Amino acid sequence: MLFAHDTECGLTAAAALVNTDGRDGEGLPDIAALDRFVAANRWTGRHERTEVELRAVRALRPRLRQLWGEDPDTVVGVVNDLLRESRALPQLIRHDDEPYHVHAAPRDAPLATRMAVEAAMAVADLVRGDELGRLRHCAHPDCTNVLVDLSKNRSRRFCEAGCGNRVAVNAYRARKAAGRPE
Ligand SMILES: [Zn+2]
Ligand SMILES: [Zn+2]
Repeated sequence: MLFAHDTECGLTAAAALVNTDGRDGEGLPDIAALDRFVAANRWTGRHERTEVELRAVRALRPRLRQLWGEDPDTVVGVVNDLLRESRALPQLIRHDDEPYHVHAAPRDAPLATRMAVEAAMAVADLVRGDELGRLRHCAHPDCTNVLVDLSKNRSRRFCEAGCGNRVAVNAYRARKAAGRPE
């Protein structure tokens, strides 16, 4: 593990949320889709299943996308804004058989607020470790998805939506068409 468990989870969940508004169109079209997203990313705590909550989560996405920006000072500004607006207050807590970890928003805070705070706290960790380079954009030319490179050798280039495979298949076809041996 490169970073603390909650940092890695926070980064992965933030990328997943940003990518619901990425390559494959609207990934959170309704409350049922948000339910599935919450379950898949193991969000616990308050979850209202309302249109208001869904709209707040969707509205958070473009702001979280800014965390993947080029300029570190701008990223830091977004992190600080998110923490300040959410009145983040870091506390060590234990729940659901997990060891102690940091929550900076109470479990009964709105889902979008907790998503914002968790993403901001995780990116704050990257900034402190001079590891912002772990936040990348998918290398596929047609893809707008983001990714978090948690590999030891910093080798990840493609998002989790299968872009790596698409590139490999295209390269294979190109080699074949050129009549070159495998
Ligand atoms: Zn927790
Ligand atoms: Zn991609």
